[in-house]
Amino acid sequence: MTFEVICENCGHIIYQGMELKYVNDVIKSNSGKCENCNKVLLKKNFRIEIIKK
Ligand SMILES: [Zn+2]
Repeated sequence: MTFEVICENCGHIIYQGMELKYVNDVIKSNSGKCENCNKVLLKKNFRIEIIKK
């Protein structure tokens, strides 16, 4: 399975990987913002998709 964290504002893939537990760390490392549209990412502002392969 692969997890994708997607910005609700612009659809940018913020994180893609196997480890869901790193999602919060990824967001923190981006200063809590989407690197594409610069929108602040609150938990309700992004969605997580699980892709089964
Ligand atoms: Zn964005």
